[in-house]
Amino acid sequence: MLITRVKKKDAILSLCKGKTLLIACFGCKEVHFEEKEYQALKEDLKTSNLNISGEIQLDYLCNDDYTNKRFELHKKEIDEAETIIIFSCGVGVQTFAGLIPGKTVLSGCDTYVLPGFSGFTPSSHDCEQCGECMLGFTVGICPVTACSKGLLNGQCGGAKKGKCEVSKNKDCGWERIYNRMTVLKKDDLTLKKMIRVRNYNK
Ligand code: SF4
Ligand code: SF4
Repeated sequence: MLITRVKKKDAILSLCKGKTLLIACFGCKEVHFEEKEYQALKEDLKTSNLNISGEIQLDYLCNDDYTNKRFELHKKEIDEAETIIIFSCGVGVQTFAGLIPGKTVLSGCDTYVLPGFSGFTPSSHDCEQCGECMLGFTVGICPVTACSKGLLNGQCGGAKKGKCEVSKNKDCGWERIYNRMTVLKKDDLTLKKMIRVRNYNK
């Protein structure tokens, strides 16, 4: 089981730039998406200086095929936005980010683990439900699951030709993050904001 919590306004605003599109996933009731809190945050964001270009409500963002089809339907709004904030669990954010390598994608929610059965959602992405979603700092690629050591402060130095030193069949997660940052022309200032002592109580 897992649960999502909408992030605080300041945690989101500090990473936004330009026209910003909100995408919210209302599909999966198991994640207990905070609909009321999301609506309140949306109103709050509207009164800030954030340039919100629109909002799309979807469901089951974690389903690659389904999300691919929905992506085509909303392509124009997505193309026009500079930043996209996704309100869903970590898998949904990663699935969407994978479709738009040239776009900044932020996570609007934190995903927490709950004891119990998590279901069988087939997805090419994974979320460890770590309680403090880092995807907004790491260009939509999860450092906890894409890196074999779950490192939050960059590459360990063991990668060879883009492959992880722990498993040669796996691409190095931090090299993927670096490559996507290069495409997005992002410097490492955003990453530096993330690197701090982490509150593992979450
Ligand atoms: S950083 Fe990774 S593990 Fe943590 S909530 Fe986000 S997607 Fe899940
Ligand atoms: S090689 Fe890359 S993915 Fe593997 S443990 Fe090191 S940083 Fe993580």
